[in-house]
Amino acid sequence: MNKPKGKIPSLLAQSTGKPAAHLCKRKSSCTRCKTHIIMNDNCFTIPKSTAGFTSHKPFCLECVKLIIDQTKKELSEIDDQLTAFYSNEK
Ligand SMILES: [Zn+2]
Repeated sequence: MNKPKGKIPSLLAQSTGKPAAHLCKRKSSCTRCKTHIIMNDNCFTIPKSTAGFTSHKPFCLECVKLIIDQTKKELSEIDDQLTAFYSNEK
């Protein structure tokens, strides 16, 4: 196998993009639970593409935690499948 050049792609980076830590500049509310995010509060923005245009949606820390947990769960399922394929090859 040739060594590929460049950064290793991640699923997050290849889909809509990674959630980014963000200091709220103005009052907004969480996209998922509608909790108010006040000015200068920590939140995360998660890019979302709709009709070819990307908007950065704010999420509160609790929702980001849930989203990350869910992502980890799904990733570990894929990891288990991958491990199973590798062990079948031996
Ligand atoms: Zn929320």
